[in-house]
Amino acid sequence: MAQRQNKRLGIYVHVPFCRHKCSYCDFYSYCPRDTRVYTAYVDALLSHMKSYKTVGADYMPDTVYIGGGTPTVLPPEELLRLIRGIKSSFRLSKNVEFSMECNPATAGYEELRRYRRAGVNRLSIGLQSVNAIELSALGRIHSARDFGVCFREARRAGFDNINVDLMFGIPYQTLDSWAATLKFAVSRSPEHISLYDLKLEPGTPLCDNASAYVFPDEDAEYAMYTFAIEFLERAGYRQYEISNFARQGKECRHNLKYWHCEEYLGFGPSAHSYFTDVRFSFKPSVSNYIKCIGGRTKDEMTDEYEEIPMRERLGEYIMLRMRLTEGIDSREFMRTFGKDFGMTYGSKLKKYIDGGYIVGSGGSYRFTPAGMFVSNYILSDILEFDADGHFAM
Ligand code: SF4
Repeated sequence: MAQRQNKRLGIYVHVPFCRHKCSYCDFYSYCPRDTRVYTAYVDALLSHMKSYKTVGADYMPDTVYIGGGTPTVLPPEELLRLIRGIKSSFRLSKNVEFSMECNPATAGYEELRRYRRAGVNRLSIGLQSVNAIELSALGRIHSARDFGVCFREARRAGFDNINVDLMFGIPYQTLDSWAATLKFAVSRSPEHISLYDLKLEPGTPLCDNASAYVFPDEDAEYAMYTFAIEFLERAGYRQYEISNFARQGKECRHNLKYWHCEEYLGFGPSAHSYFTDVRFSFKPSVSNYIKCIGGRTKDEMTDEYEEIPMRERLGEYIMLRMRLTEGIDSREFMRTFGKDFGMTYGSKLKKYIDGGYIVGSGGSYRFTPAGMFVSNYILSDILEFDADGHFAM
């Protein structure tokens, strides 16, 4: 009998429900009027996962991430059914990192304790800011105090690996108010801190009414970013990615899979996957997802579908690897693509190295903090894209 393999895999499960839509958010999530959809949705997710029983037999997932939306908006019984279903559908590794996102206003001690006991061992809590005016501009439904209570209850419930999400570039935010948010977050001693630069996404209320708000300008945002890097390093959080900082050994293993171009399977509307050399995603519609899973017409729920072996992911590899503070290692690049990174991109890299945006030494290339702040611009200059947005080799 053929021996089963134990290939590594990340599992992502999207829960596209929120109690209230934040003013800046363009993720696929909504506030359902009919809460019966929760049960039907969890049924669909579990049925979808079961369909991977054969093809997934050679995999031993070592990371799981339930994200959203707000997973903790699901009634506890449904969320527990989902957690248990994930565990029974896949042969999870013994040291699995099992993360779940949580909004401070949506989970108390009892629920958190049950999720922890069911197998979730890493929590990601969205704080964004401690300033009430900034939270209000973002349309968040919680206060800094709610966050403090949620964090304390999560610790009491047994979570010893917690991430806190913060945001800069918020209307009315100043360097002082940003420093207050960072100090508040660090005073709780989370294991991991993520910080995001607020982007105005077309179609969101914040973008549509942008003229009604006062935003920090680009210089102020740059000052906030570099302040955060220095502040967090001093507090014992090592930056390992443009937006992510962790205590020693607490880097998010699931997100590292994306940046290392490893395999992952996504479940739910708008979820993306890279599995067996195929990249695919599902249409952003809960009703379509439930209908397609129930009716076994999975083709109709697929959005993008592209067969793309690793050696053809060169542009994506560069974009993702350069997000990491370790950057690109020329030897690994040569092994993977049969090209010399420095020789191939040398002339374009030079001006950014000379300008202090990229450091090239010891066979590796990585962004400085100044380079990270404008990384999208630099990467689109270094890499060439055709008219359809595809990378041109
Ligand atoms: S809680 Fe998260 S997913 Fe939901 S609306 Fe706010 S930012 Fe978007």
